[in-house]
Amino acid sequence: MAYDKDNIFAKILRGEIPCEKLYEDEDTFVFMDIMPRADGHCLVIPKTACRNMLDATPAQLSATLKTVQRMGHAVMKAFDAEGVMVQQFNEAAGGQEVFHLHYHVLPRHDGIKLRPPGTMADFSELKDHADKIRAALG
Ligand code: 5GP
Repeated sequence: MAYDKDNIFAKILRGEIPCEKLYEDEDTFVFMDIMPRADGHCLVIPKTACRNMLDATPAQLSATLKTVQRMGHAVMKAFDAEGVMVQQFNEAAGGQEVFHLHYHVLPRHDGIKLRPPGTMADFSELKDHADKIRAALG
């Protein structure tokens, strides 16, 4: 399947759609998920085009996973979490809805369930959570 350069995350990367940005480096970009399944749920994406893990280059995968690890530490610190969940879906049958490679990073606490999918964030709360993560990144 071809990469669609007008997918939502490509538009976010080009600054055509706003996002609550947390971090970027030369190869990767991180922002809050607009429908967080846990407080601090963020998305890590490569800056260059690929649909998902199946067509990503080794360089895209390694840069993105390096940032996933960094964000895992940051969200755990920001939310005083006991664990971190990383999710990544490939193609529609694999649960993917936005076709630009992304990793979900979610801080987790014992006994606290995820919210159901599709619950839109309260934007002022999302910004507060983003501030905590940015502070934890240093
Ligand atoms: P997936 O493709 O892994 O199934 O999920 C895509 C994720 O992107 C979902 O968790 C959804 O909440 C998030 N998402 C979809 N549209 C937007 C958007 O416009 N902005 C942000 N920040 N997140 C989005």
